[in-house]
Amino acid sequence: MSDDAAQRRESLKALLVQARGCERCPELAATRKTVVFGAGNADADLMFVGEAPGASEDEQGVPFVGRAGKLLDTLLAEVSLERGDVFIANVLKCRPPGNRDPQQAEIDACHEYLERQVELIQPRLICTLGNFSTKLLRGDPTGITRLHGRDEPITLGAREVRLYPLFHPAAALYTPSMLATLREDFARIPGLLASHAPPSAPPEPAPAPAEDEGANQLGLF
Ligand code: URA
Repeated sequence: MSDDAAQRRESLKALLVQARGCERCPELAATRKTVVFGAGNADADLMFVGEAPGASEDEQGVPFVGRAGKLLDTLLAEVSLERGDVFIANVLKCRPPGNRDPQQAEIDACHEYLERQVELIQPRLICTLGNFSTKLLRGDPTGITRLHGRDEPITLGAREVRLYPLFHPAAALYTPSMLATLREDFARIPGLLASHAPPSAPPEPAPAPAEDEGANQLGLF
């Protein structure tokens, strides 16, 4: 792992500690069981951003572990990816009680955590899952039905990233036609990652020591 990646990972861990103690949304802080910060590879090229934790995520402290999460795992596997290759986060880090929609004040309060996550992980491609994350990251109210499956460049903080809006897996669970579309949209992910790859770098001077393997995994703790 490069010094830069190691430093960014440490900063991400510090952000996690900060988020765990967050009380910016009094109702969410009072009703949550855990803060679901996000999980996966802290140096991922591909990041997914969902809406908010549900009951299972709140119990386990890990995003997308319920039925929608199982579907996300299947879709990832279909394009030869697994959770350890990507980073998965949400617009809100705490479960809205009763799975109600996130409120605007909560989205505003939590936005800084997501911004920082993107800044530190430095993904090249961000797949937004559903309306909330798509609207937030595009800064525009256009809905997912119009936008899904079309990648576009956006600027987040100081960085240019490719945004790729997708239907939310939870919605696709109940609508076969939406699942078919989500699958088709997912199939383009490897191509998008390849076409926006950075220019190939010269070979690394030395292989990473064995004990560093997997050291970049966050959220599996
Ligand atoms: N739905 C989301 O948007 N996020 C999760 O983590 C789980 C379900």
